[in-house]
Amino acid sequence: MLVFTTAEELSSCLKSQSQTVGLVPTMGALHLGHLALVEKACKENKWVVVSIYINPTQFNNTEDLEKYPVTLEKDLQLLEPFHKQLLVYSPSNQEMYPSGFFKKSYDFGTLTKHMEGAFRPGHYDGVATVVELLFKKTTPTKAYFGEKDFQQLQVIRALVKQKKLSLSIVECPTVREKDGLAMSSRNQLLTTIQRQAAPLIYQTLESLKKNAFTSDVSQMELYFKKELEQSDELKVEYFCVAETENLVPVTTLEKGKKYRFFTAVFAGKTRLIDTVELGRI
Ligand code: AMP
Repeated sequence: MLVFTTAEELSSCLKSQSQTVGLVPTMGALHLGHLALVEKACKENKWVVVSIYINPTQFNNTEDLEKYPVTLEKDLQLLEPFHKQLLVYSPSNQEMYPSGFFKKSYDFGTLTKHMEGAFRPGHYDGVATVVELLFKKTTPTKAYFGEKDFQQLQVIRALVKQKKLSLSIVECPTVREKDGLAMSSRNQLLTTIQRQAAPLIYQTLESLKKNAFTSDVSQMELYFKKELEQSDELKVEYFCVAETENLVPVTTLEKGKKYRFFTAVFAGKTRLIDTVELGRI
């Protein structure tokens, strides 16, 4: 497996190839959700760069950053089956931010006003800053992002549009455990009891979607909270229904519009997010 720590080495390798390049940005602690992105990228490009970098500027909570799992050796083993097409880029903080950490200030309008944008101030400025840096360093033809972080996906699409970048963004569906829990690097931090409780997040979103008993979002929120808080392990930070395109939360559902559920739930100190498409109602 080719592992690069500097963009200079990486780009000299890529330049000699002059073929399509797919980028899969990750923070490591890889799981099958990440591998689905890598697999898709390998099918659609000659070369694939998987970046593994925990970006401090997108964390608004130091404890979350300190606890974030680091499993580089295991990550490289998981990527091994793709080694013929893969270049791993695993930069240091010095390589990414040679003049010290910074984040740019962006205007993504309504896309960053709610949900993660509201509960994690500055998060998307950090995300957009590092993704812009990664795009510059790896010059991909396509970049792959997960539906699991749907708000992030919409922000990256807006970034590409605003900066008139010549690459396409590919959305990849959320990969779940058998019991429905969205795969996440943070799932490793759950205790056995928290892990047993966590699938209730997705199960409740799905049952709300299937039953669609009301178009009143406050009733849905009440139902969601009541179901989840039957478990002592789970605490809902937010639940909302937002329009898919502009990510503005709504109070009632209107015919003909496309919506998604969004939620963040604490299992102990571990914060889990999930989203489910409601589709056009
Ligand atoms: P992360 O390492 O958590 O920053 O995630 C890197 C990329 O993988 C992001 O585009 C995520 O949306 C995506 N991703 C993470 N978990 C999943 C999952 N369960 N299913 C699909 N994509 C995912």
